[in-house]
Amino acid sequence: MKIHVLTIFPELINMFFNWSIVGRTVNKGILSLEAVDIRDFTKDKHKRVDDYPFGGGPGMIMKAQPIYDALISVKEKKSKTIYLSPQGKPYNQEMAKTLSQEEHLILLCGHYEGIDNRIIDNYIDMEISIGDYVLTGGEIPAMVLIESIIRLLPGALGSEESYSDESHYNGLLEYPQYTRPRVFNGFKVPEILLSGDHEKIKKWKKYKSLETTYKKRPDLLNNLNLTNEEKKILEEIKEKTRNKTS
Ligand code: SAM
Repeated sequence: MKIHVLTIFPELINMFFNWSIVGRTVNKGILSLEAVDIRDFTKDKHKRVDDYPFGGGPGMIMKAQPIYDALISVKEKKSKTIYLSPQGKPYNQEMAKTLSQEEHLILLCGHYEGIDNRIIDNYIDMEISIGDYVLTGGEIPAMVLIESIIRLLPGALGSEESYSDESHYNGLLEYPQYTRPRVFNGFKVPEILLSGDHEKIKKWKKYKSLETTYKKRPDLLNNLNLTNEEKKILEEIKEKTRNKTS
């Protein structure tokens, strides 16, 4: 996969290269990641990339010309161009999965009060938000996308299992995990995990994954197609919770 990040702070993205998984995937040849400095494309003699908003208002707006020229310098037929924006579609694991199938992503990072809307209207395939809050620039959101996407690329992690059990991958949250020692400050690890009975442990993990989701993010369960077995387990969990609270 190829990712180009269009930014006025390429050094932020370049720092990210040393981050474990990013560096690893780049070194393994799974990912090609490049920061493109929008400022290199400005035709303004003072190298400015921003200007005052038409109609007045606070702050500055990133000009269309340098963004457009930076974009067409890397755009190919199969590129998907994404503008990181607080007005975009809220990002989630499902979107990370879909984007991980793309060959080439171009991530456009805004700054100041944002970018000239003609870029959004005419040259962007998708706007993505990493949450309902406003950050100063699109670089951190771009890094969020990059990391969540490349974890899903074949060969990026140690084994497929490393992410397939994780929270959100199948719509559920992950089951609780423990490591040595068996007893910490008097608190014991659940006995079943020490039993060596793989079938029972698998069932326990499924139960705990459903229970954790029900307790922490019950909203996630509304969008899931649970199997009959999972529905039965969920009913059991609900019954247990009702009994505890009554
Ligand atoms: N004036 C814009 C608005 O109200 O929609 C916000 C601009 S924000 C200060 C500057 C840049 O940060 C944006 O152009 C965008 O690239 C990025 N950004 C800020 N919050 C974001 C979020 N929640 N998700 C993705 N990108 C964000």
